[in-house]
Amino acid sequence: MSKTEVAILGLGLMGTGMASRLLSQGFPVTVYNRSPQKAEALAKLGAKVARTPREAVAGAAVVVSMLADDDAARAIWLGTNGALAGVAKGATLVESSTISVDWVRELSAAAKKRGCELLDAPVTGSKPHAAAGELVFLGGGSADALNTVRPVLAAMGRDIIHIGPSGSGAMMKLINNFVCGVQAVALAEAVAVIERSGLDREKAVGVLTGGAPGSPMVKMIAARMLANDFTPNFPMRLIAKDLRYALKQNGAIPGMEVLAAALRTFEQAIEAGHGDQDFSAVVEVPRSNRKG
Ligand code: NAP
Repeated sequence: MSKTEVAILGLGLMGTGMASRLLSQGFPVTVYNRSPQKAEALAKLGAKVARTPREAVAGAAVVVSMLADDDAARAIWLGTNGALAGVAKGATLVESSTISVDWVRELSAAAKKRGCELLDAPVTGSKPHAAAGELVFLGGGSADALNTVRPVLAAMGRDIIHIGPSGSGAMMKLINNFVCGVQAVALAEAVAVIERSGLDREKAVGVLTGGAPGSPMVKMIAARMLANDFTPNFPMRLIAKDLRYALKQNGAIPGMEVLAAALRTFEQAIEAGHGDQDFSAVVEVPRSNRKG
Protein backbone atom coordinates (compact mmCIF):
# COMPACT_ATOMS: atom_id res chain seq x y z
CA MET A 1 0.00 0.00 0.00
CA SER A 2 1.41 3.42 -0.89
CA LYS A 3 2.16 5.70 2.00
CA THR A 4 0.65 9.11 2.72
CA GLU A 5 2.18 12.08 0.89
CA VAL A 6 3.67 14.43 3.47
CA ALA A 7 4.91 18.01 3.17
CA ILE A 8 7.42 19.34 5.70
CA LEU A 9 7.70 23.12 6.05
CA GLY A 10 10.86 24.27 7.84
CA LEU A 11 14.19 22.49 7.77
CA GLY A 12 15.95 23.76 10.87
CA LEU A 13 17.57 21.56 13.52
CA MET A 14 14.25 19.77 14.10
CA GLY A 15 12.52 19.79 10.69
CA THR A 16 15.57 18.30 8.97
CA GLY A 17 15.61 15.30 11.32
CA MET A 18 11.84 14.84 11.04
CA ALA A 19 11.92 14.90 7.23
CA SER A 20 14.81 12.43 7.06
CA ARG A 21 12.96 10.07 9.45
CA LEU A 22 9.90 10.10 7.21
CA LEU A 23 12.04 9.41 4.14
CA SER A 24 13.78 6.53 5.91
CA GLN A 25 10.34 5.05 6.72
CA GLY A 26 9.30 5.16 3.04
CA PHE A 27 6.99 8.20 3.06
CA PRO A 28 6.94 10.38 -0.07
CA VAL A 29 8.07 13.76 1.27
CA THR A 30 8.09 17.25 -0.24
CA VAL A 31 10.06 19.87 1.67
CA TYR A 32 10.22 23.65 1.75
CA ASN A 33 12.67 25.89 3.57
CA ARG A 34 13.15 29.67 3.34
CA SER A 35 16.91 29.14 2.86
CA PRO A 36 16.91 26.58 0.04
CA GLN A 37 20.41 25.19 0.69
CA LYS A 38 19.12 23.36 3.78
CA ALA A 39 17.03 21.12 1.48
CA GLU A 40 20.00 19.84 -0.53
CA ALA A 41 20.91 16.90 1.75
CA LEU A 42 17.26 15.82 1.92
CA ALA A 43 16.96 15.94 -1.88
CA LYS A 44 19.80 13.42 -1.99
CA LEU A 45 17.74 11.19 0.34
CA GLY A 46 14.76 11.36 -2.05
CA ALA A 47 12.78 14.41 -0.93
CA LYS A 48 11.06 16.57 -3.53
CA VAL A 49 12.08 20.19 -3.01
CA ALA A 50 9.47 22.91 -3.50
CA ARG A 51 10.18 26.55 -4.29
CA THR A 52 7.31 27.94 -2.20
CA PRO A 53 5.19 26.71 0.75
CA ARG A 54 2.16 26.76 -1.56
CA GLU A 55 3.89 24.47 -4.06
CA ALA A 56 5.10 22.14 -1.26
CA VAL A 57 1.63 21.34 0.05
CA ALA A 58 -0.14 20.92 -3.29
CA GLY A 59 -0.24 17.10 -3.33
CA ALA A 60 0.05 16.45 0.41
CA ALA A 61 -2.54 14.65 2.56
CA VAL A 62 -0.59 15.66 5.67
CA VAL A 63 1.36 18.90 6.13
CA VAL A 64 3.76 19.28 9.06
CA SER A 65 5.34 22.61 9.87
CA MET A 66 8.37 23.07 12.15
CA LEU A 67 9.24 26.76 12.23
CA ALA A 68 10.99 29.08 14.63
CA ASP A 69 8.14 31.16 16.06
CA ASP A 70 4.79 32.90 15.47
CA ASP A 71 6.25 35.28 12.86
CA ALA A 72 7.87 32.46 10.88
CA ALA A 73 4.71 30.35 10.98
CA ARG A 74 2.56 33.31 9.92
CA ALA A 75 4.86 33.99 6.95
CA ILE A 76 4.87 30.35 5.84
CA TRP A 77 1.16 29.63 6.28
CA LEU A 78 -0.39 32.98 5.33
CA GLY A 79 2.31 34.98 3.49
CA THR A 80 2.84 35.38 -0.25
CA ASN A 81 2.60 31.91 -1.83
CA GLY A 82 1.79 30.65 1.67
CA ALA A 83 0.85 27.06 2.44
CA LEU A 84 -2.77 27.63 3.39
CA ALA A 85 -3.61 28.95 -0.08
CA GLY A 86 -2.36 25.71 -1.65
CA VAL A 87 -3.63 22.93 0.66
CA ALA A 88 -6.05 20.38 -0.72
CA LYS A 89 -9.49 20.35 0.93
CA GLY A 90 -9.52 17.60 3.55
CA ALA A 91 -5.75 17.56 4.12
CA THR A 92 -4.73 17.40 7.78
CA LEU A 93 -2.36 20.13 8.91
CA VAL A 94 0.02 19.62 11.82
CA GLU A 95 1.64 22.67 13.39
CA SER A 96 4.57 21.27 15.39
CA SER A 97 6.42 24.54 15.98
CA THR A 98 6.34 25.89 19.53
CA ILE A 99 4.09 28.89 19.04
CA SER A 100 1.62 30.90 21.08
CA VAL A 101 -1.83 29.52 21.88
CA ASP A 102 -3.72 32.54 20.50
CA TRP A 103 -1.92 32.35 17.18
CA VAL A 104 -2.42 28.60 16.74
CA ARG A 105 -6.15 29.04 17.41
CA GLU A 106 -6.28 31.81 14.79
CA LEU A 107 -4.48 29.55 12.32
CA SER A 108 -6.79 26.66 13.10
CA ALA A 109 -9.82 28.85 12.32
CA ALA A 110 -8.23 29.94 9.02
CA ALA A 111 -7.56 26.29 8.11
CA LYS A 112 -11.18 25.39 8.83
CA LYS A 113 -12.29 27.99 6.27
CA ARG A 114 -10.13 26.11 3.72
CA GLY A 115 -11.84 22.81 4.60
CA CYS A 116 -8.91 21.41 6.63
CA GLU A 117 -8.38 20.60 10.29
CA LEU A 118 -5.21 21.97 11.82
CA LEU A 119 -3.79 20.19 14.85
CA ASP A 120 -1.32 21.84 17.17
CA ALA A 121 1.20 19.09 17.87
CA PRO A 122 4.39 20.57 19.31
CA VAL A 123 7.04 18.14 20.45
CA THR A 124 9.24 17.32 23.39
CA GLY A 125 12.72 16.01 22.62
CA SER A 126 15.49 17.80 20.80
CA LYS A 127 17.67 17.49 17.68
CA PRO A 128 18.90 13.91 18.38
CA HIS A 129 15.34 12.74 19.17
CA ALA A 130 14.07 14.25 15.90
CA ALA A 131 16.78 12.43 13.95
CA ALA A 132 16.09 9.13 15.74
CA GLY A 133 12.28 9.23 15.59
CA GLU A 134 11.95 9.58 19.36
CA LEU A 135 9.92 12.77 19.72
CA VAL A 136 6.79 13.00 21.86
CA PHE A 137 3.88 14.82 20.16
CA LEU A 138 1.46 16.86 22.31
CA GLY A 139 -1.71 16.98 20.25
CA GLY A 140 -4.40 19.65 20.36
CA GLY A 141 -7.50 19.21 18.16
CA SER A 142 -9.97 16.42 17.47
CA ALA A 143 -9.16 12.80 18.27
CA ASP A 144 -10.28 11.88 14.73
CA ALA A 145 -7.75 14.19 13.08
CA LEU A 146 -5.03 12.95 15.40
CA ASN A 147 -5.86 9.36 14.46
CA THR A 148 -5.67 10.28 10.76
CA VAL A 149 -2.10 11.53 11.13
CA ARG A 150 -1.01 8.95 13.72
CA PRO A 151 0.99 6.77 11.24
CA VAL A 152 2.92 9.86 10.06
CA LEU A 153 3.63 11.09 13.60
CA ALA A 154 4.51 7.55 14.73
CA ALA A 155 7.30 7.49 12.13
CA MET A 156 8.84 10.55 13.84
CA GLY A 157 8.02 9.91 17.48
CA ARG A 158 7.87 7.41 20.29
CA ASP A 159 4.60 8.74 21.72
CA ILE A 160 1.58 10.77 20.66
CA ILE A 161 -0.46 12.24 23.52
CA HIS A 162 -3.88 13.74 22.86
CA ILE A 163 -3.87 16.68 25.26
CA GLY A 164 -7.31 18.09 24.34
CA PRO A 165 -9.02 20.53 21.95
CA SER A 166 -7.31 23.02 19.62
CA GLY A 167 -4.64 25.07 21.43
CA SER A 168 -4.14 22.64 24.29
CA GLY A 169 -1.04 21.04 22.76
CA ALA A 170 0.50 24.50 22.37
CA MET A 171 -0.43 25.41 25.95
CA MET A 172 1.04 22.16 27.31
CA LYS A 173 4.29 22.72 25.40
CA LEU A 174 4.69 26.26 26.80
CA ILE A 175 4.16 24.94 30.33
CA ASN A 176 6.66 22.11 29.67
CA ASN A 177 9.32 24.53 28.44
CA PHE A 178 8.64 26.94 31.30
CA VAL A 179 9.60 24.15 33.72
CA CYS A 180 12.61 23.15 31.57
CA GLY A 181 13.80 26.77 31.40
CA VAL A 182 13.53 27.28 35.16
CA GLN A 183 15.46 24.06 35.79
CA ALA A 184 18.18 25.16 33.35
CA VAL A 185 18.63 28.54 35.05
CA ALA A 186 18.62 26.94 38.53
CA LEU A 187 21.30 24.47 37.40
CA ALA A 188 23.33 27.29 35.80
CA GLU A 189 23.35 29.19 39.10
CA ALA A 190 24.22 26.00 41.02
CA VAL A 191 27.17 25.26 38.70
CA ALA A 192 28.47 28.83 39.11
CA VAL A 193 28.19 28.53 42.91
CA ILE A 194 29.97 25.15 42.85
CA GLU A 195 32.79 26.59 40.72
CA ARG A 196 33.23 29.49 43.15
CA SER A 197 32.95 27.36 46.30
CA GLY A 198 36.09 25.29 45.91
CA LEU A 199 34.11 22.03 45.89
CA ASP A 200 35.30 19.31 43.52
CA ARG A 201 33.22 20.35 40.50
CA GLU A 202 32.64 16.92 38.90
CA LYS A 203 31.82 15.33 42.25
CA ALA A 204 29.43 18.13 43.26
CA VAL A 205 27.57 18.19 39.94
CA GLY A 206 27.44 14.38 40.10
CA VAL A 207 25.61 14.63 43.44
CA LEU A 208 22.98 16.83 41.78
CA THR A 209 22.56 14.75 38.63
CA GLY A 210 22.54 11.46 40.55
CA GLY A 211 20.06 12.65 43.17
CA ALA A 212 16.59 14.15 43.38
CA PRO A 213 17.37 17.25 41.24
CA GLY A 214 18.72 15.05 38.42
CA SER A 215 15.86 15.23 35.90
CA PRO A 216 16.65 13.90 32.41
CA MET A 217 17.08 17.49 31.26
CA VAL A 218 19.32 18.52 34.16
CA LYS A 219 21.51 15.46 33.49
CA MET A 220 21.76 16.32 29.79
CA ILE A 221 22.63 19.99 30.16
CA ALA A 222 24.93 19.52 33.17
CA ALA A 223 27.23 17.52 30.89
CA ARG A 224 27.22 20.34 28.33
CA MET A 225 27.91 22.98 31.01
CA LEU A 226 30.85 21.03 32.45
CA ALA A 227 32.32 20.44 28.98
CA ASN A 228 31.60 24.04 27.87
CA ASP A 229 30.12 22.46 24.74
CA PHE A 230 27.38 24.81 23.59
CA THR A 231 26.85 23.33 20.10
CA PRO A 232 23.18 24.15 19.47
CA ASN A 233 20.69 21.37 20.04
CA PHE A 234 18.07 23.76 21.38
CA PRO A 235 19.19 27.32 20.68
CA MET A 236 18.97 29.90 23.50
CA ARG A 237 16.89 32.29 21.33
CA LEU A 238 14.17 29.60 21.05
CA ILE A 239 13.81 28.81 24.76
CA ALA A 240 13.68 32.56 25.48
CA LYS A 241 10.87 32.80 22.90
CA ASP A 242 9.00 29.94 24.61
CA LEU A 243 9.23 31.59 28.03
CA ARG A 244 8.13 34.90 26.51
CA TYR A 245 5.03 33.22 25.01
CA ALA A 246 4.35 31.36 28.27
CA LEU A 247 4.52 34.62 30.22
CA LYS A 248 2.28 36.44 27.73
CA GLN A 249 -0.23 33.59 27.70
CA ASN A 250 -0.40 33.40 31.47
CA GLY A 251 -0.23 37.12 32.18
CA ALA A 252 -3.67 36.78 33.77
CA ILE A 253 -2.11 34.80 36.63
CA PRO A 254 -0.63 37.22 39.16
CA GLY A 255 3.02 36.61 39.89
CA MET A 256 4.76 34.03 37.71
CA GLU A 257 7.95 35.44 39.25
CA VAL A 258 10.02 32.29 38.70
CA LEU A 259 9.13 32.22 35.00
CA ALA A 260 9.89 35.95 34.65
CA ALA A 261 13.24 35.60 36.44
CA ALA A 262 14.32 32.67 34.25
CA LEU A 263 13.36 34.63 31.13
CA ARG A 264 15.46 37.60 32.31
CA THR A 265 18.49 35.32 32.65
CA PHE A 266 18.02 33.88 29.13
CA GLU A 267 17.65 37.42 27.77
CA GLN A 268 20.91 38.43 29.48
CA ALA A 269 22.58 35.43 27.84
CA ILE A 270 21.27 36.52 24.43
CA GLU A 271 22.48 40.09 25.04
CA ALA A 272 25.91 38.64 25.86
CA GLY A 273 25.99 36.96 22.41
CA HIS A 274 24.86 33.40 23.26
CA GLY A 275 21.54 33.47 21.33
CA ASP A 276 22.54 30.95 18.67
CA GLN A 277 24.31 28.64 21.12
CA ASP A 278 22.65 25.81 23.00
CA PHE A 279 20.51 27.00 25.93
CA SER A 280 22.95 25.29 28.31
CA ALA A 281 25.23 28.31 27.63
CA VAL A 282 22.98 30.15 30.11
CA VAL A 283 25.58 29.03 32.67
CA GLU A 284 27.80 31.82 31.29
CA VAL A 285 25.48 34.44 32.88
CA PRO A 286 26.01 33.48 36.56
CA ARG A 287 29.63 32.58 35.73
CA SER A 288 30.28 36.14 34.58
CA ASN A 289 28.15 37.69 37.34
CA ARG A 290 30.39 36.13 39.97
CA LYS A 291 33.25 38.32 38.76
CA GLY A 292 31.22 41.48 39.34
P1 NAP B 1 15.82 26.41 13.85
O1 NAP B 1 16.89 25.44 13.63
O2 NAP B 1 16.14 27.79 14.25
O3 NAP B 1 14.92 26.45 12.50
C1 NAP B 1 13.91 27.42 12.38
C2 NAP B 1 13.16 27.24 11.07
O4 NAP B 1 12.23 28.33 10.92
C3 NAP B 1 14.05 27.24 9.81
O5 NAP B 1 13.45 26.45 8.83
C4 NAP B 1 13.99 28.72 9.42
O6 NAP B 1 14.27 28.96 8.05
C5 NAP B 1 12.53 29.01 9.69
N1 NAP B 1 12.26 30.44 9.82
C6 NAP B 1 12.69 31.27 10.80
N2 NAP B 1 12.21 32.52 10.59
C7 NAP B 1 11.49 32.47 9.45
C8 NAP B 1 10.72 33.42 8.73
N3 NAP B 1 10.60 34.69 9.15
N4 NAP B 1 10.11 33.03 7.59
C9 NAP B 1 10.21 31.75 7.16
N5 NAP B 1 10.91 30.78 7.80
C10 NAP B 1 11.52 31.14 8.95
O7 NAP B 1 14.76 25.86 14.93
P2 NAP B 1 14.49 24.35 15.41
O8 NAP B 1 15.42 24.05 16.53
O9 NAP B 1 14.38 23.46 14.24
O10 NAP B 1 13.03 24.56 16.07
C11 NAP B 1 11.85 24.63 15.29
C12 NAP B 1 10.66 24.75 16.24
O11 NAP B 1 10.63 23.61 17.11
C13 NAP B 1 10.72 25.97 17.17
O12 NAP B 1 9.42 26.46 17.39
C14 NAP B 1 11.32 25.40 18.45
O13 NAP B 1 10.96 26.18 19.58
C15 NAP B 1 10.69 24.02 18.47
N6 NAP B 1 11.46 23.00 19.20
C16 NAP B 1 12.83 22.96 19.11
C17 NAP B 1 13.52 21.99 19.80
C18 NAP B 1 15.03 21.88 19.76
O14 NAP B 1 15.59 21.20 20.65
N7 NAP B 1 15.73 22.48 18.81
C19 NAP B 1 12.82 21.04 20.58
C20 NAP B 1 11.42 21.09 20.61
C21 NAP B 1 10.74 22.08 19.92
P3 NAP B 1 15.82 29.33 7.62
O15 NAP B 1 16.55 28.03 7.58
O16 NAP B 1 15.64 29.99 6.31
O17 NAP B 1 16.34 30.26 8.68
